[in-house]
Amino acid sequence: MDTSPSVESLDTIVSLAKRRGFIFPSSEIYGGLASCYDYGPLGVEVKRNVKEAWWRSMVMSRDDVVGLDASIIMHPRVWEASGHLAGFTDPLVECGVCGSRYREDHIDASAPPMCPKNKKKPCELGEARNFNLMFQTNLGPVIDASNTVYLRPETAQGIFVNFPNVVDSSRVKMPFGIAQQGKSFRNEITTRHFTFRTCEFEQMEMEFFCRPEEMLEWYEYWKTTRLQWFIDLGVNPDRLRLRPHDDDELAHYSSACADVEYLFPFGWSELEGIACRGDYDLKKHAEYSGKQLMWRDQTTNETFVPYVVEPALGTDRTVLVFLTDAYCEEEVDGNPRTVLKFHPKIAPTKVAVFPLLRKNGHPEKAKEIYDGLKEHYSCTYDDSGNIGRRYRRQDEAGTPYCVTVDHDTMDDNTVTLRDRDTLEQRRVPLGSLREELVKVLGF
Ligand code: ATP
Repeated sequence: MDTSPSVESLDTIVSLAKRRGFIFPSSEIYGGLASCYDYGPLGVEVKRNVKEAWWRSMVMSRDDVVGLDASIIMHPRVWEASGHLAGFTDPLVECGVCGSRYREDHIDASAPPMCPKNKKKPCELGEARNFNLMFQTNLGPVIDASNTVYLRPETAQGIFVNFPNVVDSSRVKMPFGIAQQGKSFRNEITTRHFTFRTCEFEQMEMEFFCRPEEMLEWYEYWKTTRLQWFIDLGVNPDRLRLRPHDDDELAHYSSACADVEYLFPFGWSELEGIACRGDYDLKKHAEYSGKQLMWRDQTTNETFVPYVVEPALGTDRTVLVFLTDAYCEEEVDGNPRTVLKFHPKIAPTKVAVFPLLRKNGHPEKAKEIYDGLKEHYSCTYDDSGNIGRRYRRQDEAGTPYCVTVDHDTMDDNTVTLRDRDTLEQRRVPLGSLREELVKVLGF
C-alpha cells in the first residue's frame, strides 16, 4: 500500500503550476497579494472540469437533487440566525514584538514561531482572543452600522433560506437535496499551503433534507458516495481516508461529522466535510424570520422540520488535490519526464494534434483533424519544436492523448495515437479516430 504523498514538497506543485499556467500568484506584477491566486489557461479548465464533474454527479445524474445559485451578499439577519455573527471565530494570538498573528490551534504553544523582528527569540504571544472570520462591507453609498453586510463565509445558508422557495416552485419529494457552487470568503488568520487555505475560495455544497429518523442512514450513504467520487476520478485511494470527528471537534450545529482527508505533502488534511446538521439551521431561520420552514407531506398532511446531511467541499482544495495526486516523475529511455496523470474528465486538454514537421509535415491535414476534434473536446494544436519536446509539453499539461500526422497519413489515411501513461503509439485510421478516442477517453 502506497501511503506516501505523491510529491515530497508542495513547492514542486507551486512551481509547475506557475510554469505551465495552472495557478499564478494574484496581482503578481505588484508583488502579489498574500493568499490570493489566479487560475491560468490550464488551471481554469481543470477548475471548470472539477465543477462540472461535481454538478453532474450531485445534480444532473440524480432525481433527488436540484441546483441553486444564491447571492454572495445576503440579509445580515441570516448570519445572526446561523450563529456566524456571534460564533464564527478563530482564536487569534498576537506577538507583542513583531505583531505577527497566528491561529492559536495552528501553532505549538510550547514552541512558538521565531520572531521576525528578533530572530534569535520566539514570538511573545499574548492571550488568545476570538476573531470573527466574516468580511464586512457596506451596501449603498453611506458607510454606517445600519447597512453593514457580510460576504458569505459558506454557501450553505443561501440554501437554507431558499428552502421554502424551492419547495414551493419545484416538485421535490422528501428526501431531497439542494446543491450550490460559488465563492465564499473567510478572513483566515493564517493562510497557507498554496490554495489549500485562502481568504477567497469556492465551495460546492449540498444540503440533503430528510426525515429525522433517516438522517444517520443518509449520513452513511453520503460518506461513501463522496469518498468514491474522488476515487472514480482517479485519486489514489491510499491517499484518501474518512476521519470521523471527535465530540470536541464538532461544530455547534452538528451531531456527527466526518472529513474526507487527503495525504498532502504537508500531511493528512481535510478535503471535504460531511456533517449531520439536524434541524438546526431551518429552526434558527424560522425563529429569526418568523416564517414557517417545515415540510408538509401531501398525502398524510403530516408536518415536520427536516433534518439535514451536508457534504461540503472546497473547489480550490479539490483542484489542488487533483494537481498534486496526478504529479509523477518518471524515467523514459534514460530521460526524466514529468507527467500529470489526470483522469481524462479532469485533464484540461483531452487531445493534442501535431504535424510531425512544421514545414512539409502536412500541417493543413493536421489542422483539419484538429478542427474536427475541437467540436467534441478541448484540444490543442502544436507545431513548434521537435516531436519529443512537444510530447513532453503535453505530458506536463496532463493531456491524455496526442495525435500525430506524418508522411504516411497522406498515403494510408492513418495517424499515430500516443497514450500519455503507457507511452504506447499505434496507427489509427482517420475514419475511426473519433470512435477510438471515445473508447479510450470514455466520452
Ligand atoms: P478548516 O477546518 O480547514 O478550516 P472547515 O471545517 O472550517 O475547514 P467547512 O466550513 O466544513 O471547512 O467548509 C467546507 C469545505 O470548504 C472544506 O472542507 C474545504 O474544502 C473548503 N474550505 C473551507 N475553508 C477554506 C479556505 N479558507 N480556503 C479554501 N478552502 C476552504
